[in-house]
Amino acid sequence: MKVSKRISSPIILILFLIFFGISVNSNAQTSSNDQPNFIIIFADDLGYGDLSVYGHPTINTPNLDRMAYEGQKWTNFYVGASVCTPSRAALLTGRLPVRNGMASNKHRVLFPDSKNGLPASEITLAEQLKKAGYNTACIGKWHLGHKEQYLPTNNGFDYYFGIPYSNDMDRVVEYPDGGYWNQQNEDIKTEHFNVPLLRNTEIVERPANQNTITKRYSEETISYIKKHKDKPFFIYLAHNLPHIPLFASKEAMGKSKRGLYGDVVEEIDDGVGKILKAIESEGLADNTIVVFTSDNGPWLPFKTNGGSAGLLRAGKGTTWEGGMREPAIFWGPGHIKPGLVTELGSTMDLFTTFSSMAGVEIPQDRIMDGYDLSETLLNHNPSSRKSVLYYRGTDLFAARLGDYKAHFITQGAYGQFGERTEHQTPVLYNLNHDPSEQYNLAEDNAEILQQIKKLVQDHKSKLVKGKDQLAERE
Ligand code: MG
Repeated sequence: MKVSKRISSPIILILFLIFFGISVNSNAQTSSNDQPNFIIIFADDLGYGDLSVYGHPTINTPNLDRMAYEGQKWTNFYVGASVCTPSRAALLTGRLPVRNGMASNKHRVLFPDSKNGLPASEITLAEQLKKAGYNTACIGKWHLGHKEQYLPTNNGFDYYFGIPYSNDMDRVVEYPDGGYWNQQNEDIKTEHFNVPLLRNTEIVERPANQNTITKRYSEETISYIKKHKDKPFFIYLAHNLPHIPLFASKEAMGKSKRGLYGDVVEEIDDGVGKILKAIESEGLADNTIVVFTSDNGPWLPFKTNGGSAGLLRAGKGTTWEGGMREPAIFWGPGHIKPGLVTELGSTMDLFTTFSSMAGVEIPQDRIMDGYDLSETLLNHNPSSRKSVLYYRGTDLFAARLGDYKAHFITQGAYGQFGERTEHQTPVLYNLNHDPSEQYNLAEDNAEILQQIKKLVQDHKSKLVKGKDQLAERE
């Protein structure tokens, strides 16, 4: 007995030290750079050309510009679809919306009378990060199902504050003179849209006061940062604007030379500045990554009430570049290696990249469409993404491989803005030489066309389309 006691004491001491050492290490990991905080700021219908750092001549966005100068500005960054619902599903699940039924040829997005939403079998980025102990908040537009079981709080988010769908829904007035498309800003009031504002699952305001909504979303974000600074957090801040109807607070109105659309974008930028300031004053700058992008291109039929895709062709609702290529800025002084990135990236890659940075395994039981961009973000190495698929509803319209994009089908934004054309010989552009998609190179590039066709065939051979979640309405 005595002998065993003498032996066991040092063993216990060693075991204690090992255990204590591991505990110290694991504590160090959770509070060190191993688990950065993530903030995704997602604008709605903001075009590639709508920020000063992307070339807009009269919209002034000094805070986003600063993020770009201190971080990475991406010029070939894509969304998963050219309209709200499928684009948001793609970002949060890291998968093409055709796989989970969040894309449809019947209705392009969800409506306040839609029956369904994001299937429970899907794994969101918030659910991924919860596995690594993150606190998670969704602030702003959801648009993945307004019924309780589909809301953010049932999709991995601890907290929700926002309008659950588009700010132009639940309209309670009829507009004269050509209706909605032709209205002047001064004729449109926030009370014309009876949209609810939710905190978690409860309606706290209806109609939501949209004049102050942008400002309030930024304030909620700052308050969440301050409350949760001691543990890793993920905030998905999805502004309802600059999707029409356009509203801005009193302080922001009349400031921009671009008019009301400019006021709205500049108010979003002002919020970005305040969020960065809060991150810095709370001592979180070295361990927080902020990304800014938008869900789809500008809504061009609304003329000056819509945004601009800059030198890119067309806008929201189309598979031209203007519909699906977006500004994308990554800021994070402790992580992101500053510079201009002309490599390919997608909002679907955020799922994969942030999971990887947080140390969470990528789901193995389903096809994922995201790539890990860490090597590009942290070390400026080439992107692991080499291709982009452009879907409209559940039909694949175009595909990009490296520099080249082939259009198999083209169509304008909506029925009244352009017919569907199926191309016997796809239309081929070199997007690096010709970002405006003007000069068809198909005739002299049969081999490249063949490579893109093979990419599409491989993709289609493994594709199982999900049950349409957007088709049914009450
Ligand atoms: Mg949108």
